[in-house]
Amino acid sequence: MRRRWEDSSTATSLRGEHNRALTCQRSRIESPRCLDRADPDSSNPWRQPFVNPPIDITPVLVSACLAGQRCRYDGTASPDARVMDLVAQGRAIPFCPEIAGGLPTPRPACELRHGRVVDRDGVDRTGAFLRGAEQGLELVRLARCARAVLKARSPSCGLGRVYDGSFSGTLVPGHGLFAAMLLDAGVEVVTEEGQEGG
Ligand code: SF4
Repeated sequence: MRRRWEDSSTATSLRGEHNRALTCQRSRIESPRCLDRADPDSSNPWRQPFVNPPIDITPVLVSACLAGQRCRYDGTASPDARVMDLVAQGRAIPFCPEIAGGLPTPRPACELRHGRVVDRDGVDRTGAFLRGAEQGLELVRLARCARAVLKARSPSCGLGRVYDGSFSGTLVPGHGLFAAMLLDAGVEVVTEEGQEGG
């Protein structure tokens, strides 16, 4: 005796449903629009690069303090909404060369003087600044970042103008150590204040 699912019309109907399911599965894989509609979480910005990959997915390196991290010498951040948006979209990598170089937070304020980095007490901190900058350069190469958004006026991240080493608030032309290293490597650098280089 044939069971109901062996009945030829039922079997044909089941085959039809199976084929429709397969077609739908294929179209979800092949069509990002279908995947977009099928994914109830597609408005989540963390999923966007996977659902609708942007044309330019090259990450941007950003100063960590601009992304809201409290890594400045005095333990504060310098959050910038544009930079924080990039990070939230998964398009930017926050990095602090001074922390990477082994300096604590908070730490003594430092400025550039005759090509060296010194703190208010005259202690030379150039070694730690260079170590951190080199780690940042390595990160840029690993992640293939072609652009960076850095914090203006910092002895590490500043571009075009930095403090003169007198701790009097006087600015002079020049770049921070990390910014200079990125420019030498061909990275396009901008600051949150609009200075451009590279
Ligand atoms: S080194 Fe750069 S990222 Fe770190 S706190 Fe200073 S400006 Fe910000």
